[in-house]
Amino acid sequence: DQADVVRLSKLRELLETHGFQFKKQLGQNFLVDAHVLHRIIDAADIAPNDGVFEIGPGAGVVTQALARKAKRVLAVEKDRSLAPVLGSSLREADNIDIRYADVLELDLPVIWQEFRDCDRVSVVANLPYYVTTPILFHLLESGVPIHHVVVMVQREVAQRLVARPGTKDYGALTVAVHYYAQVELIQRVSSGAFVPPPNVESEVVRLRIRSEPPVDVSNPALFFRVVRSAFSMRRKTLLNNLTHSFQIAKPDCETLLKAIGIDPVRRGETLDLTEFADITRALSHTLR
Ligand code: SAM
Repeated sequence: DQADVVRLSKLRELLETHGFQFKKQLGQNFLVDAHVLHRIIDAADIAPNDGVFEIGPGAGVVTQALARKAKRVLAVEKDRSLAPVLGSSLREADNIDIRYADVLELDLPVIWQEFRDCDRVSVVANLPYYVTTPILFHLLESGVPIHHVVVMVQREVAQRLVARPGTKDYGALTVAVHYYAQVELIQRVSSGAFVPPPNVESEVVRLRIRSEPPVDVSNPALFFRVVRSAFSMRRKTLLNNLTHSFQIAKPDCETLLKAIGIDPVRRGETLDLTEFADITRALSHTLR
């Protein structure tokens, strides 16, 4: 709505008033495009009794829009020098709590207790690109109940998240994220939507968190080791990567793969989730 556009245009003024300096090393590219803001808010699909966890509120533009939809917003910002800016931009909202901390150092199950009185909790973030992957895994591996994760990432990462087996973008990140979530591309975003403009293109993606993993692996830690191993040296065969990582004799590994119908000379990048799960189960018997 109009109100957002007006506020967005006042962003520079707000930052200047507080003498704020952008820190490139913290991935500070603030959103100034009202259309993109609305796409993010729509994709988050927030109901009045929902909670939202926001990572990196910056000057609070997304935070404010989230707070109008949600029961409560808890935002974590690493840069303490944004405190006066956020204090001013969010002064009218009474359902926002800002923590100044590094999200990677937060104990998410403890944080999630703040959402006890909420129906569902979604995560929304225009992510600092230098820590995209660690943040995604911090969220996904924490085990906290998350409804949606709606994040702005650099387009190259978005492409990796939705890549199909056998393509160059398909990798350990693709497989690991698909274990936890279904990924949808929401909106391409050009660098002009940010101040200062980043030197990469961006994309809003939505992760719908699965209630159950899509494949049956009794040992998830082993599954992730298999995935990392299969992609560890992309030009090598599955057989070579697995024998190297798991210290098994080549003939044994060959027999194991053939027994589950997987050609040992295939490359990791051609395997789908089900095949990674099959290998994990076979290996867990061998390694026992
Ligand atoms: N949400 C704001 C927006 O859309 O305009 C700012 C987004 S900016 C791309 C990323 C924000 O994440 C910055 O405010 C930055 O200071 C913050 N940040 C960077 N690293 C962080 C970390 N490890 N934990 C929490 N916040 C972090």
